[in-house]
Amino acid sequence: MADVAYRGASRVFTGTPPVKAVDQLDLEVADGEFLVLVGPSGSGKSTALRMLAGLEDIDEGAIHIGGRDVTHTPPKGRDIAMVFQSYALYPHMTVAENMGFALKLRRTPKDQIKTKVDEAARMLDLTNYLDRKPKALSGGQRQRVAMGRAIVREPSVFLMDEPLSNLDAKLRVETRANIAALQQRLDTTTIYVTHDQVEAMTMGHRVAVLKDGLLQQCDTPRALYDTPTNAFVAGFMGSPAMNLKTATLTPQGAQLDGLTIPLTPETQKTLNTTTITLGIRPENLTLTTNNQPGIGLTVDLVEELGADAYVYATTTNTDTPERFIVRADAHNPPTIGQTITATLTTPHHTHLFHPET
Ligand code: ADP
Repeated sequence: MADVAYRGASRVFTGTPPVKAVDQLDLEVADGEFLVLVGPSGSGKSTALRMLAGLEDIDEGAIHIGGRDVTHTPPKGRDIAMVFQSYALYPHMTVAENMGFALKLRRTPKDQIKTKVDEAARMLDLTNYLDRKPKALSGGQRQRVAMGRAIVREPSVFLMDEPLSNLDAKLRVETRANIAALQQRLDTTTIYVTHDQVEAMTMGHRVAVLKDGLLQQCDTPRALYDTPTNAFVAGFMGSPAMNLKTATLTPQGAQLDGLTIPLTPETQKTLNTTTITLGIRPENLTLTTNNQPGIGLTVDLVEELGADAYVYATTTNTDTPERFIVRADAHNPPTIGQTITATLTTPHHTHLFHPET
């Protein structure tokens, strides 16, 4: 058990130009917390995780595990266990041997290794597979062996780098719930890397969003969704994505394609600009049939997801057509080519961002 702290930690890869893969990262992870690092490909997630593991140099700043400065400590001395995307199982060893290997290297007595391996196998539903070699296992079972190998080491911190990306969609959903439950049960600090915002939102106690090596925001899934700090976080978290549009500020409020979103004079003053980026989640837009003011749209595509339908539609009467995503009644969705009017369900649920964020 341990807390983790990145203190102004950077990693710069030499080259022309050099790449600052992780840029002065400041992040505190509490003891027992499940923290997810999320961001698009190339945002520095894996590098940040590898710096913590000791697999990547720390060019600036420091990293602490359990209050100890491990900035220059080799991986072996950090008391961490990592689960890789590839699982990295030894093909010539059985499941039991794979799971117990780290303990064998530590010269743990055989009976103790067996006890720990059996216990982890029970937790992961692998008891009947202990004598098999990895090639005789399904993808999901291999993934669980990789988890088991980390668990038997009883590290102070688990590090996981996209551990579900080789599983099919259904298994991924099942396994993410199992990992979250297991983490809760073991109560071991866990840092988990993914590019998938749904995985991040459903698994993490807190989620740290990275872009170009820079931490954008670190908060609970709820807070990231409700109060994103900038347009990047707003657009990245949530599915389907938030509608992010440029709106003009007038004394009446923010004007957007037929909609006026009232703003208080204080908000207008703090924004101190003439155009802003306005964010509206698809579920905050609804179709209206009466003559309420709204955005005139032509339907391009309807995505029916059982409980909800999402309508992808383009503005009809504007010089520069823009695409909006609107939630609609799944039992009565509009049809492709139909003209519709979208309006806000709750005007105060819109988000305002400075255009440069
Ligand atoms: P992510 O995990 O978010 O996809 P990475 O941490 O792998 O991102 O990479 C962050 C940035 O650092 C990218 O621009 C990537 O090309 C660069 N990078 C990663 N590893 C190396 C390396 N060994 N040498 C040079 N550049 C690297």
